[in-house]
Amino acid sequence: MPGKIKRKLLAELVIFTVLFAVVAAFLGYTGFVIGQSDFASAAVFDAGKTKRIIVDPGHGGEDGGATGINGRVEKELNLELSQKLEAFLRLLDFDVIMTRDSDVSLGEDAEKGKRKMTDLVKRLEIAENNPDSVFLSIHMNKFPQEVCKGLQIWYSPNDDGSRRLADIIKNTVQTDLQSGNTRENKKANSSIYLLDRMKNISVLVECGFISNTEECAQLCDSAYQQKLAVCIADAVLDFYNNVG
Ligand SMILES: [Zn+2]
Repeated sequence: MPGKIKRKLLAELVIFTVLFAVVAAFLGYTGFVIGQSDFASAAVFDAGKTKRIIVDPGHGGEDGGATGINGRVEKELNLELSQKLEAFLRLLDFDVIMTRDSDVSLGEDAEKGKRKMTDLVKRLEIAENNPDSVFLSIHMNKFPQEVCKGLQIWYSPNDDGSRRLADIIKNTVQTDLQSGNTRENKKANSSIYLLDRMKNISVLVECGFISNTEECAQLCDSAYQQKLAVCIADAVLDFYNNVG
């Protein structure tokens, strides 16, 4: 590897490590000590076990998803949060597959009227091609009543691991970031195309309501996105460490 590229990669690793330590400390983990033990246990549990995660930023391209009360579009926030989550999961030694890493629809080559379904089918195919992977779909919520707020998780009905993963993410977020959030996880039905059909362990995280002024501002804030990404990454690691 050329020295210049190596130095750049090392610099990026240092930046992410410092960032992770700061956010972890903020969340009340006892400094970076527990963060380091997480890394250590990750290495131990890696033996013989696939640690591959598919991170799925919802929507993209001509499908913007919901529009927030401040005008921000869901597809952008999904991607920002997902890329932070990707970075933390890679630090924890996960192999991460992104269903998209830019503002595109996976169905944009299909004829008009079939693009949305093509997009979903292609996301499902990525999961089917990686059956040992956990599938994490990232979305933002919206509701006519502005008062609604709080992260909400849907889990696939096809594998009990999906429910357990959803529980760990919910508990981590409610403990570390949203103490007032009492929302219960929900089992997905046929209205959620991907989770209904997917055989992988899979959850869809509605990260919060962009129809709520306060929560929309948080979800647009890079520092808050970092905290939420750390919570989800930490929960995923807990899930892997306690599976089978
Ligand atoms: Zn969405």
